[in-house]
Amino acid sequence: MTQYDYDLFVIGAGSGGVRVARMASDNAVRVAIAESRYLGGTCVNVGCVPKKLFVYASQFRDQFDSAAGFGWTVGKSTFNWTSLIANKNLEIKRLQAVYDGQLQKSGVSIITGRAQVLDAHTVAVDGKQYSSERILIATGGWPFVPDMPGKQYIVTSNDMFFLKQLPKRIIIVGGGYIAVEFASILHGLGVDTTICHRGHQLLHGFDGEISDFLAHEMTKKGITILFNTEVTAIERAGDAFVAKLIDGGIVCADLVMYATGRTPNSTGFGLESLGVELDSVGAIKVNSDYQTNVPSIYALGDVTNRLNLTPVAIAEGVALVNKLYTNQPGSVDYDTIPTAVFCQPTIGTVGLTEAQAREKYPDIDIYKTSFTPMKNTLSGIDEKTLMKLVVVRSTDRVVGIHMVGADAPEIIQGMAVAIRAGATKSVFDSTIGIHPSAAEEFVTLRVAVT
Ligand code: NDP
Repeated sequence: MTQYDYDLFVIGAGSGGVRVARMASDNAVRVAIAESRYLGGTCVNVGCVPKKLFVYASQFRDQFDSAAGFGWTVGKSTFNWTSLIANKNLEIKRLQAVYDGQLQKSGVSIITGRAQVLDAHTVAVDGKQYSSERILIATGGWPFVPDMPGKQYIVTSNDMFFLKQLPKRIIIVGGGYIAVEFASILHGLGVDTTICHRGHQLLHGFDGEISDFLAHEMTKKGITILFNTEVTAIERAGDAFVAKLIDGGIVCADLVMYATGRTPNSTGFGLESLGVELDSVGAIKVNSDYQTNVPSIYALGDVTNRLNLTPVAIAEGVALVNKLYTNQPGSVDYDTIPTAVFCQPTIGTVGLTEAQAREKYPDIDIYKTSFTPMKNTLSGIDEKTLMKLVVVRSTDRVVGIHMVGADAPEIIQGMAVAIRAGATKSVFDSTIGIHPSAAEEFVTLRVAVT
């Protein structure tokens, strides 16, 4: 008979935590999961899911505008933010119930409240103590906002999902995933949108040409992007706000959103006093088995700040449960993880950027094409697509695939399979295209451009 109340106590019911709890419980492990805020974590509540619903909402304006070219007369359209938020909230509630049902069905004990780790085998929630052989920290991350005068006036992505009303003008500070996604959403909903980014290119870490192409397309649509721009202070001006810029300039708006990264949720619940090691940004340090320096304590997902993506946290959860409880050790391969950005046009990417490939290999060929998608011939929408293959000449291996354009996330998911399977350029060339599609361009690129 074990000395502990549970075999595994999971803190945080986001994507990673829930997957571990359910899978472990399905394998006869006695599991509890504690959550203080909302079942489903960031992804379900203030991330991927409501964001994608907002993306759909924001695309209708272009679609209404496109319709005339195809013979349709569309009546006057109006948009109701309150209605979108209410419908979104209902859907999120439904998903929370699904998570709850799945955890219950698997036999996981759901404990609502903020957990405090008391020692290597004890967690307290609302004054009640639970002992566990192992503890998993899956507490995710939280928006980071740098210190500056006027910080109290700004909102983050967390707030955007519950805004009482849509602003007429917004300033978005940052140039990463969240900044470009929200800029596209808000612009699509009719908000006058300005991005203030401290760097010279959006989406640090992405292929440079993809970033430049996106910035060009977003600018064409009417989004203002101020590069190399630091905001030094935010001031109130009646009902509006003024962002003061480092060069002395100002930008005015009704709302200022910061999308300046996220920090791991690793402090304030007992890990410090236990001596769990954190890195310089507060991420929990783990070994290849997601184990911290305190052997009974594990961590995965955004709190470890590797690749902060829902499917990665889930894959890490599966690997951990397999390792600990199913005798099927396996690990997550962090190479060639595809990712998408739901800006407009969308981005999908997998593998090495051109710059990374040139650093790693002496003989890189680039195949690319930029074109007006068929739909836009009649739609009148001035939006182009860019597709790019990065190939190692000596081995013929395709090591990077990048796309900006409609449906890029859907197309690149399949391309990721090809890359993981080690596809060569000849395999791409011998693959018959699907006509007419944008995706067929990936198998008809014949001439290297550099
Ligand atoms: P990112 O790390 O993607 O981008 C942060 C941006 O803020 C960068 O442009 C960065 O500039 C800038 N920045 C950082 N610190 C400051 C500062 N002090 N002053 C001014 N600018 C600053 O973070 P996000 O918040 O956009 O997203 C967090 C993470 O969430 C992403 O990295 C991703 O892992 C995940 N995510 C994934 C999505 C998806 O899969 N579609 C969607 C949304 C989020 P610089 O480049 O110069 O460092």
